Amino acid sequence: MKILFTASECVPFVKTGGLADVAGALAPVLAKLGHDVRVVVPMYTAIDSKWQHQMEFQLHFDVQLGWRRQYCGVQMLRKDGVTYYFLDNKYYFGRPYVYGLGGDEYERYSFFCRAVLDALPLLDFKPDVIHAHDWQSGMVPALLKIQYAHLPFYSKIRTVFTIHNLQYQGIFGIKEVQDVLGLGDGLWSSDKLECFGCANFMKAGLVYSDAITTVSPSYAEEITTAYYGERLDGLIRARKDSLFGVLNGIDIGEYNPETDPLIYANYSQKDMTNKAKNKAMLQHDLGLKEDPDVPLIAMVGRLTNQKGLDLVDCVLGDVMKENVQMAVLGMGDAQYTNLFSWAEQQYRGKLAARFAMDHGLAHKLYAGADFFLMPSLFEPCGLSQMISLRYGTVPIVRETGGLRDTVLSYNDYDQTGNGFTFLNYNAHDMLSVIQRALVYYTEQRDVIHTLQARGMSGDYSWTHSAAEYVKIYEKL
Ligand code: ADP
Repeated sequence: MKILFTASECVPFVKTGGLADVAGALAPVLAKLGHDVRVVVPMYTAIDSKWQHQMEFQLHFDVQLGWRRQYCGVQMLRKDGVTYYFLDNKYYFGRPYVYGLGGDEYERYSFFCRAVLDALPLLDFKPDVIHAHDWQSGMVPALLKIQYAHLPFYSKIRTVFTIHNLQYQGIFGIKEVQDVLGLGDGLWSSDKLECFGCANFMKAGLVYSDAITTVSPSYAEEITTAYYGERLDGLIRARKDSLFGVLNGIDIGEYNPETDPLIYANYSQKDMTNKAKNKAMLQHDLGLKEDPDVPLIAMVGRLTNQKGLDLVDCVLGDVMKENVQMAVLGMGDAQYTNLFSWAEQQYRGKLAARFAMDHGLAHKLYAGADFFLMPSLFEPCGLSQMISLRYGTVPIVRETGGLRDTVLSYNDYDQTGNGFTFLNYNAHDMLSVIQRALVYYTEQRDVIHTLQARGMSGDYSWTHSAAEYVKIYEKL
């Protein structure tokens, strides 16, 4: 099959979150299965010059955005069997950020979505399936159905839209979006593009795609409810027959403790001695007390409400009363950077926090910690808990979304499980499960070793999920 991914970020070129990991890892796996896979992303300034130097200019054309005609250059790079296209317009993407600050996100991603469709005949690539990811690509299925499908070139193209995070929907004024995309008044009813008085790119993707997927079976169930549905649950329930939950994998080549060049020392399930070395070096580098017997809990991720940080805020004092250390790496809301900056001073030698996008340090935390804490309010899939499992770092998570599908709580009676979990979004439930984990660490270390071994031998590859995507494509 000919498959085109459209995504606003993709590893290794540009990444702010899990979407980039998914696009970057799934595409080569599909290519390996023999499909012709191409990926389109915006040509951001943030893309490392190392990659920019390897790109080849293909062609350029003008994109009509309402009354504007905007230049679009297409750069191309081939890697691991996948063809990557980068849509280049300095006005929209030549900025020192990926998302957000300019107030014209609707125009940047309208440009992107229209340019994707316009580029296809020029590149002489007619995909069987366009697989659009998250709201930034939401207008691709919509424009295709509304404005392009009557043209022979486009008439047979089918679309899949994947929700990586329903919280981010791309909500803008209708007038503004009409101004750039020229979508007539008749399209702005609640069964089409209108959403609570606004334009909503995520909704556009959900209404007009042929199939919808999200990144774990549990999240696929959850988003049909009002609690998790982010005001789109009614629409999602209406499209339930076309909705599939496909669990993400991780790049098991990049995240491999046996070969990872970013960690202090490599180790494997068979020989874990060097995991202790990683912990010691990490403690040293982060200014934590160097003690192999103090359990170290890591957190890596965006510092936002989604990640359950208000629970951590609520009981941090109680956690710190335990014989424990914490290491936090993330960027995000000032509320939480303030919290952890304060805590680093308050619990000197016991808690360390770094506020940066630092892939090397992230790997070191996954390798060096004993536990990984992820008490998310909601979690479409979550990659961090799978990475932790692979590094023998025992996850402590809330049972929601993909966390529920990947982490099974240790059961004392039948000795099953690969981590520790709690169900209710409640700080003291989280606290007691952390305390439970710490008791095993100090009193029954063999249980922790069993959980580590089980985590490290799990299959987190894309093999199974890629096959499920192929099935969905074939059905369309
Ligand atoms: P989300 O997509 O909600 O941000 P995921 O768990 O699905 O969360 O994916 C987050 C990815 O980004 C993981 O690979 C994680 O290690 C990485 N990550 C998040 N924050 C940072 C950071 N500050 N530095 C390095 N890597 C980070």
